[in-house]
Amino acid sequence: MKQRKDKKTIMGIDIGGTKIAAALVSSGRLMTPVYSVHTLHGSKILNQVSKFYEKFSKKYLISGIGISTAGMVSDDGRIVGSTGNIPGWQGTKVKETLQKKYRLPIVVENDANAAAYAEYQIGSAKGANPLLMITLGTGVGGGVVVNGKLVRGAHYAGGEIGHIKLSYTKQRHCTCGRYDCLEAYASGNGLLALIKHYFPENYKKITTRDLFRLAKSKNKNAIFAIRAVEDWHFYIALGICNLFQLIDPKKIVLSGGLSSEIDINYLTKETRKLLLPALEKSVHIEKSVLNNDAGLLGAALLASQSL
Ligand SMILES: [Zn+2]
Repeated sequence: MKQRKDKKTIMGIDIGGTKIAAALVSSGRLMTPVYSVHTLHGSKILNQVSKFYEKFSKKYLISGIGISTAGMVSDDGRIVGSTGNIPGWQGTKVKETLQKKYRLPIVVENDANAAAYAEYQIGSAKGANPLLMITLGTGVGGGVVVNGKLVRGAHYAGGEIGHIKLSYTKQRHCTCGRYDCLEAYASGNGLLALIKHYFPENYKKITTRDLFRLAKSKNKNAIFAIRAVEDWHFYIALGICNLFQLIDPKKIVLSGGLSSEIDINYLTKETRKLLLPALEKSVHIEKSVLNNDAGLLGAALLASQSL
């Protein structure tokens, strides 16, 4: 017999370039372990979502599905852009297809937006208004929550902060095809460019992990690694400064794989130096406590509100 749990048991799904994570969520809390599978291509991803549904629905009554996904998402839950890391995913009518199949409320949201929403609802910056979230990893993304609502934008690109410009000199090529975007400086690739600059002789042998380790070591080359890590913080501070002047966030939350390497005090100090002097004391930067589960939890929270 099925365990009839509370009505608002939501299946939260996070679709990324390498893996799809899934769990059941109720009132913003995980009710099951987070399971994951390697991401397939295009419409096969919907089959993977269905398999998770079949697995969970054997034991639980699912009231809705919240999907957080890489790429820009239209209001009707279609993938409309920027999904180079998931071939064949762009154009997929995710919401329509799943709604027809399951006749349940379905919410589909960009992964960084979903994560920002989770940070606002249940994260370390709960209730911060406005809230700015920045994800630092292979790419740079983000989300903005104002008055409790995600800023999705007129073209579904609200919060795509990785592509604000840090320079006009065409120094760094970005994955989007343009130059000098925040992502080109603050992402893993941005760090690799710094490694190349500071270690021109042997940069090919140095990973980003090596760089952070070297910066904390007593090695004679540590000074170059420290400079590279400081430059990286400075670029992120520049990005935060530009965004700060636009939305004046109460709190800034950092997430993503590289955020663990951020020195919050140093970043705050650098950001303060760049901002309008009157705003110096208004910078509050924190690291996410939700981390990898933020997208899945945020999508589930959004879905539970549509019930
Ligand atoms: Zn770009």
